[in-house]
Amino acid sequence: MIKLKTLMQLKGKHCYWCGVETVLPYDPNKLKQNSPTREHLIPKSEGGTDHIDNLTIACYTCNTNRRSMSEEEFRNSEFLQHRLGYLYNRGEVQRTKRQLKRARRRERRFWDKIYAEAYREDNARSIAKVTGQAIEEIMLNWTTHA
Ligand SMILES: [Zn+2]
Repeated sequence: MIKLKTLMQLKGKHCYWCGVETVLPYDPNKLKQNSPTREHLIPKSEGGTDHIDNLTIACYTCNTNRRSMSEEEFRNSEFLQHRLGYLYNRGEVQRTKRQLKRARRRERRFWDKIYAEAYREDNARSIAKVTGQAIEEIMLNWTTHA
């Protein structure tokens, strides 16, 4: 697995979710709220890999509160909304807005691809429920007809 420091060089030191500037802990056994962590965009429990494209930096607070939520679920979660409000009031969000925007743009292409795949799979699952066909068979038909 990629080193945390290397990942920070690639993805920046701001939390992917809340934009807070993460600070490496002096003592790795004493993780603080804004300590950087490796975040799996697609959670490992949902089949996400350790590939660099699936990894980004999240603060310890966001990482632990997200658990296995999807990106969309977590963005809409009460927790993140509250956290963003809290950071905004402290003036920390404005400071990092530009970096955050840049990071989002960088990740957008990746996510577009993932969502397109998930959408296809969702559709196939719905069709499979009605027709009794295998999902793989339905998706294979789409590929050959495309
Ligand atoms: Zn965060």
